[in-house]
Amino acid sequence: MGLLVQLSYFLAAVLFILGLKAMSSPVTARKGVMWAGVGMVLAVVATLFHPYIEGVTNLVLIAVAIAIGGAFAWYTAKRVQMTEMPQMVAVYNGLGGGAAAGIAAVSLLKGTHGEDGTSVAAALGGDVATLALLGGVIGSVAFSGSMVAWAKLDERLKRSTLVENHQYWNIGLAALTALLAIWAFNTGFGLPILLFFAAALALGVFITVPIGGADMPVVISLFNALTGLAVGFKGYVLGNLALVIAGTVVGASGMLLTFLMAKAMNRSLANILFSGFGAAPAAGESEAEGEMKEVGPEDAAYMMGYADRVIVVPGYGLAVAQAQHKLWEMIELLQRLDVDVKFAIHPVAGRMPGHMNVLLAEAGVPYDLIYDMEEINEEFEGTDVVLIIGANDVVNPAAREDEGSPIYGMPILNVDYAENVLVVKRGRGAGFSGVENKLFFRDNTRMVFGDAQKVVAEMVQTVKGI
Ligand code: NDP
Repeated sequence: MGLLVQLSYFLAAVLFILGLKAMSSPVTARKGVMWAGVGMVLAVVATLFHPYIEGVTNLVLIAVAIAIGGAFAWYTAKRVQMTEMPQMVAVYNGLGGGAAAGIAAVSLLKGTHGEDGTSVAAALGGDVATLALLGGVIGSVAFSGSMVAWAKLDERLKRSTLVENHQYWNIGLAALTALLAIWAFNTGFGLPILLFFAAALALGVFITVPIGGADMPVVISLFNALTGLAVGFKGYVLGNLALVIAGTVVGASGMLLTFLMAKAMNRSLANILFSGFGAAPAAGESEAEGEMKEVGPEDAAYMMGYADRVIVVPGYGLAVAQAQHKLWEMIELLQRLDVDVKFAIHPVAGRMPGHMNVLLAEAGVPYDLIYDMEEINEEFEGTDVVLIIGANDVVNPAAREDEGSPIYGMPILNVDYAENVLVVKRGRGAGFSGVENKLFFRDNTRMVFGDAQKVVAEMVQTVKGI
């Protein structure tokens, strides 16, 4: 039976890796998710036949827990709105970290023998105790940090809440957690273990609360990677290869994504985690000058209909309005008028990595019309019309020009180099970072105020008449 279990784990690992590979292209992504899902089911079922399950007496409880968790996840995933997806990912990712930390806690508490003098390290073995503590701290930070990220994405918490002297808090809490870990390792009592977990949870909260502005995507993918690492350590503690492999795959791919996102923001990870960025407007940030100039959807549609080249920049507001289908309908009409249309996607547009790609794919936009920032940024100069639809931070020239701005240094789509810029949004509000966008006041920019769904529907009617 043991061999069969190990073979199933091997097959599951192959499915995880193939699934991940398939997820790297929108064409094969759905297949990739299916493969990885099948791998996960296989790993869970195989675990129920693992030799160590023989001593386990609470199989009914395990089945009940799986049924409750599975039903809840199925129900929430079925009814979640596309715009709430990032929050859901943050919560589920955090729960993975929390589960890893919980198992680490149980493993460590099993090694406590009170006053008989045996330390946790002696009872569990030094390597197991060390990895349980490492998995415990990483899982706890991923759990509490992800919950704060969820609250920020769900607008229950201000996006950038600067805690005074937060670097010192972080260093202090990290040092306290390390000291408690050493204490927990060397004594046989449960109290230091509980204090260690409390400090690690607080550390996750303190690290995440001050991070705001446009840095959240990096933090979210970092917590994702940390959850993977914690699960990998948990696999070692439990002697379960499937967990080691699944955790390592998530940890490694999550870390790669984290560095890619940090690169997209042109910031180092350390700078994001420790600079406490994006709170009050910084010194150099001046009030925008000039006035916003408004046009109606009709005039905007004529501008596009008579243009040679149009670039569309989608952002979070497109997802809110669910206007992707109408938008594609309009683009197809423009193509019939011989307008050359392309889509430009910023790596952090929307509220989760790949958000805009998913949205456009859902509407049936062909992949060869969709360009990443570095592929298209040179093309804005000389483009007749740029249509910005529900995007804000990713086109804010303050990132390029205003050294005092909290988003200074973040690469943006250079839409302001185009001949004409149309911006569809409901009002004058700022984007996720809270930074005012001077693009809206530029001479070549026209604002088309209104819900994207409604505005695009009106544009469709006009383009049909051209
Ligand atoms: P932004 O959040 O900067 O701006 C979105 C704009 O959409 C708002 O200014 C809003 O203006 C407008 N909007 C909202 N609803 C509608 C609607 N129904 N119709 C028309 N417009 C609407 O989005 P971007 O995509 O430009 O930037 C993403 C931001 O989110 C970045 O700061 C990024 O760092 C951050 N982020 C990204 C994550 C990721 O992984 N991609 C994760 C977490 C954060 P108004 O209210 O006036 O309509």
